[in-house]
Amino acid sequence: TVRVRFAPSPTGSLHVGGARTALFNWLYAKKTNGKFILRVEDTDTARSTRESEQSMLADLNWLGLDYDEGPEKGGEFGPYRQSERGAIYQTLARRLMTSGHVYKCFCTDEELEQMRAEQEAKKLPPKYVGKWKTASEEEVKAMEATGAPYTYRFRVPEGERIEIDDLIRGKVGWDTDTLGDFVILRSNGIPVYNFCVAVDDATMGITHVLRAEEHLPNTLRQALVYDALEFKRPTFGHMSLILAPDRSKLSKRHGATSVGQFKEQGYLQKTMINFLALLGWNDGTEKEIYEVDELAPLFAIERINKSPAVFDTVKLNWMNGQHIRLLPESEQNEMLGLAMEKSGVMSATASDEAKKMAISLVKDSIELTEDVSAKVKEILEYPLQEEMKTNEQMQKVIEDDFQPIVDAIVSAHESGELQECVKNNDVKKFINATGKALERKGKRLFMPFRIALTGRTAGPEVGDALVLLGMLKDGDSSSAVLL
Ligand code: GLU
Repeated sequence: TVRVRFAPSPTGSLHVGGARTALFNWLYAKKTNGKFILRVEDTDTARSTRESEQSMLADLNWLGLDYDEGPEKGGEFGPYRQSERGAIYQTLARRLMTSGHVYKCFCTDEELEQMRAEQEAKKLPPKYVGKWKTASEEEVKAMEATGAPYTYRFRVPEGERIEIDDLIRGKVGWDTDTLGDFVILRSNGIPVYNFCVAVDDATMGITHVLRAEEHLPNTLRQALVYDALEFKRPTFGHMSLILAPDRSKLSKRHGATSVGQFKEQGYLQKTMINFLALLGWNDGTEKEIYEVDELAPLFAIERINKSPAVFDTVKLNWMNGQHIRLLPESEQNEMLGLAMEKSGVMSATASDEAKKMAISLVKDSIELTEDVSAKVKEILEYPLQEEMKTNEQMQKVIEDDFQPIVDAIVSAHESGELQECVKNNDVKKFINATGKALERKGKRLFMPFRIALTGRTAGPEVGDALVLLGMLKDGDSSSAVLL
């Protein structure tokens, strides 16, 4: 069976790049009925924290990317934190020592530094050329007897070519001569990253390693470790970068980049999954809106793009609006109702009927949950005085066409006719009747009505706005100017 993994380093929050990696692995596991494993890569003890691990797990959980094996959850290939797998690394490092794939290197930092400097001066690539690569057994024994510290250094085979069939990039190969012997175990016994990753993927039975392109250079070292341990290599797939719309590397200066930030800004989980899925993948059609459950059966590694994906916030926002409108109405009302309550535009005392009415008037034009408040506020306010100062169209209408309409409204208000119309939701009838009496039609009729009744020159149907206002009592809204 397929076994894939997501292997975050807990040194910060879960970013969109990591989330996409997790999602593609998760989708592939779902599609193939395989297992999705979470492994925490916390060998860098200086930078790894438990808080970061917790926040990443929380974000994965929010995204709905559940895993079959992992920290807390367990599984038969655990432990799932690298910091708890020391014994496994030690055992396999010793195995490589026995088989001659690694040797003890007693070079001091100063010696290594000097080696690097000399190579740099000669414009040679940095490569280990110290004596321990070829030292005799006696030399090693003698040095060991002095108690000098040593590392385990991997003996890179000479003159070989290592190739992988990358699922996304095709054939990728390296000459082993480009790579110097590398350390797998430091003198303090701490294993080195690439060794851990290869050992973990092998001992956890990972069949497919799908990860970001930036890990491609690591793959050579990891493949060598696999081969030396006589483990079968997994199949690799390296996904392209995610770029900002300006085609530079996506970073903080482009705005939110972590899943937590998007969640806080009110993006739906469904939106994030849909959007991340299309960052470098498509099902071969033009379709853009997917529910989470639709994705897994369609997912195919072969359809992951080799070229970089662009993180387009305009599209993300559009997509969020689409997903809001796809929610069942009860969920829309609950979510948008809460947002309105939070902003005060509709307090808890407002009737459900009023809240629903408000939502129905604006929901087709919102992208983020939060947008609902600003849109409803626009309907409820009466900004006539402020608008007058700058709105030339309004000034003209008030000058030319306003008074008879205002008179009609005032008398209808006094007689109670207007309130009656609002209650029965036929303000339009009243407007038309007034038009007949004043022999006015079209813009010269509707614009003065709109301005008088809403204080604006634009907005939803005047009748709708009034009906909503008619549903409110004192204290129901921080912005409404009641009838
Ligand atoms: N721990 C690595 C990272 O967070 C991922 C390693 C891998 O996928 O092989 O970038």
